[in-house]
Amino acid sequence: MANSYKLAIPSDRAERLQYIRRMFPQAVGSFLGDAWCGGRHEALRRLNTIDIEAYGRNHSFLNGSVTKLSPYLRHGCLTLKEVSDNVRYRFGAQAEKFVEELAWRDYWRRVWYELGNGIFSDIEDPKVALGDKLLPDFIRQGITGLPCMDGFIRDLTLEGYVHNHARKWFAAYLVHWLKVDWREAADWFENHLLDGDKGSNHLSWQWVASLNSSKPYYFNKDSLARHTGEKYCTNCKVNCPFDASHEALNEKLFADTVPAKAKVHRVAMPEKTPISAHQAVAIFVHDEMLSPAHPLLRRPMPKIFVIDDFLHGKWPLKRLQFLADCLNELQDVEIWIGDTRAILKERGVGQIVTQDTPNKQVKALLEPFNPIYQPEIKFTEAEISEQRLKRFTRYWDKVSVELFGDSVSS
Ligand SMILES: Cc1cc2nc3c(=O)[nH]c(=O)nc-3n(C[C@H](O)[C@H](O)[C@H](O)COP(=O)(O)OP(=O)(O)OC[C@H]3O[C@@H](n4cnc5c(N)ncnc54)[C@H](O)[C@@H]3O)c2cc1C
Repeated sequence: MANSYKLAIPSDRAERLQYIRRMFPQAVGSFLGDAWCGGRHEALRRLNTIDIEAYGRNHSFLNGSVTKLSPYLRHGCLTLKEVSDNVRYRFGAQAEKFVEELAWRDYWRRVWYELGNGIFSDIEDPKVALGDKLLPDFIRQGITGLPCMDGFIRDLTLEGYVHNHARKWFAAYLVHWLKVDWREAADWFENHLLDGDKGSNHLSWQWVASLNSSKPYYFNKDSLARHTGEKYCTNCKVNCPFDASHEALNEKLFADTVPAKAKVHRVAMPEKTPISAHQAVAIFVHDEMLSPAHPLLRRPMPKIFVIDDFLHGKWPLKRLQFLADCLNELQDVEIWIGDTRAILKERGVGQIVTQDTPNKQVKALLEPFNPIYQPEIKFTEAEISEQRLKRFTRYWDKVSVELFGDSVSS
């Protein structure tokens, strides 16, 4: 275990953020600061201050009352069910629009369970021709010359959070205007997000690209200007590539192009390692179950979390700091940096128990330790057939009835 260390995360927050910066000198990007603090405590505060009426009215606007709960849901500080139960209890039918947005996360997660690493490749044939360009440097550097897109890139790389509508515009710009390979763009985008989640991210990029929907997603200047309150357009002097009607853009972006066949993408997996001869059983805490209220964390067994290059090597500094905030709230969890398998072996672990995950990279890493996977807490009890899983509308037709009864608005 030459390169493995046990971390002693400081409980004082300012100390903690500095400590993580020192421990991960190679981590890129900005400092997390006070705008975001990881952990269940902060997640509950955000949940309790939701303005559900305003959310229903303005969540698709850039300055709308969105909750910014996604990094907390992604890391398991709160479960989708906790959030859904809470808002339905407090606000009844008024919570419907918000719960429908939560349901998107459950929906993508189910598709991820179903397809595994298939989500990294085209799920269906594209409905329009897609490009295969590499991600240009002017995107990585945020110097497209378009104030809106440069603003979204700043949100992404400095804050690690981008509004949902801006994510869609940005993805459409890359995939349909610049003809960048969606898979390369999706990987880069996810790495910068505090809520970076392979299911929600890669499947949303596929949705924009028309790989799990019947048509491509694109937008025009009028729509962007309206939903951003003209924030970027007022002083914009560039020749706007989005300034046209939907019909004209459709003609420009997709005419004379023949859709290609679906593309398959290989995903890195860990090397095979022989089964361990050790016998001790431990709880393996992975990065989707970081809540002190998690049932597995209450068990009287050794609990181990590893910051492993294979899983977290590309995480920017602010995300590692967010992670440290979350880990700081967990009692009795050993926190290591290094190679998961080497650490588990050294600790004499022969078997691990953990929460189930659709992440096949985590599963492949744990495979030598005879893992027992405890099911995740379900967002919905509704049985979802493979057919319903093909499109969100079919899934929501069923789930909305279970959550809100027959009177739900369509
Ligand atoms: C290209 C692209 C990439 C994305 N990548 C991610 C990602 O890596 N991780 C991630 O959590 N979400 C991702 N999303 C979905 C969505 O943009 C974010 O979940 C949402 O913007 C988070 O902000 P919020 O918590 O303020 O959302 P709110 O509007 O307050 O919604 C509450 C919660 O509902 C869930 N949710 C809302 N909209 C969606 C959606 N469209 N898809 C899935 N879940 C949703 C999220 O968990 C969110 O926290 C992506 C969307 C697009 C278009």
